Amino acid sequence: MPRPIKATINVAHLKHNLAFVRSRVGNASIFAVVKANAYGHGVERAARAFSAADGLALLEIDAAVEMRAAGYAKRIVLLEGVFDVADLHTAAAHDLALVVHSAEQLRMLDAAPPAARYDVLLKVNSGMNRLGFTPHAAGIALAQLKNHRVVCNLTLMTHFASADGAHGVAWQTQEFERVAHGHGLARTLANSAALLRYPDTHADWVRPGIMLYGCSPFADLTAAQLGLKPAMTLASELIAVRTLAAGERLGYSGTYVAPAAVRVGIVACGYADGYPRHAPTGTPILVGGRRTCTLGLVAMDMLAVDLSSMPEAHVGTPVTLWGEGLSADEVAASSGTVSYELLCAVAARVPIVEV
Ligand SMILES: *Cc1c(COP(=O)(O)O)cnc(C)c1O
Repeated sequence: MPRPIKATINVAHLKHNLAFVRSRVGNASIFAVVKANAYGHGVERAARAFSAADGLALLEIDAAVEMRAAGYAKRIVLLEGVFDVADLHTAAAHDLALVVHSAEQLRMLDAAPPAARYDVLLKVNSGMNRLGFTPHAAGIALAQLKNHRVVCNLTLMTHFASADGAHGVAWQTQEFERVAHGHGLARTLANSAALLRYPDTHADWVRPGIMLYGCSPFADLTAAQLGLKPAMTLASELIAVRTLAAGERLGYSGTYVAPAAVRVGIVACGYADGYPRHAPTGTPILVGGRRTCTLGLVAMDMLAVDLSSMPEAHVGTPVTLWGEGLSADEVAASSGTVSYELLCAVAARVPIVEV
């Protein structure tokens, strides 16, 4: 029998979340963001579930080529563009749209195969200060791209730094619109948080990621409150149960000391499966569908849970690490991270089952 851990992907929930996006964005087109193996859900599976989207956005060119090989015919955009001229050949051969965010990438386009034609998204740095041209430089790049022999379709793009937080998006949209004004080009701005909180940013293409997988982009609003359904459930089982006497210690470094007799369960899931090692004692977890918490340090292959209030729990009792019944957002918050990181970190050794 295989080790009992598995990640279940609920395809109906992926579809529900996409339909939810559709209901919010009206006529705007949707790039379903499927980078990082579709936030751990499997890019091919996600593309199938998101067949009603208008395109896919990711940054791994191999995965993009695989999607074409699997017959995906809509737009596919490479969110970091190309890394070298060889990528330009691949992109042309598979009709991949390119983000152009740097002077280096502009120069690469000059070396593109003469017969190639590219669908280009010019990235404007409106305040995130990672990738993109400043508004001034973007104006110059735009003039070049408009007349470029290999560019057949141009879209303007920017990305928000604080669509989920107090700084909002107005300061960035202002910068972006300075570039976009008067050109009549298609525009794309919104990630999940902006899509939900700032309908003014929907423009021509929205780029939802995390919400499609059923997690919340906001710290102060749960996915359930938003109407999203968790697509991934990471589940395992108890593989041992024991009772600690008062004063006995648990696990590596003995960080947890039993204050009285405590019944504990050992779960077949650890940080080598993608569970966060930083999850402290007290992180929520479901045992037999009921809520309890972790105890002590998360190890590579195991973690411990409190069974004090669960005399019925035994070896083989199912455990939900996150997903259906316990949001990954909550586990992430307890562990000082975000659900994005948990979903992406599910390890290759964890089998994925589709329902
Ligand atoms: C990852 C990413 C998104 C999606 O962001 P979410 O917060 O997951 O919705 C959108 N645009 C770009 C450029 C990205 O890199």
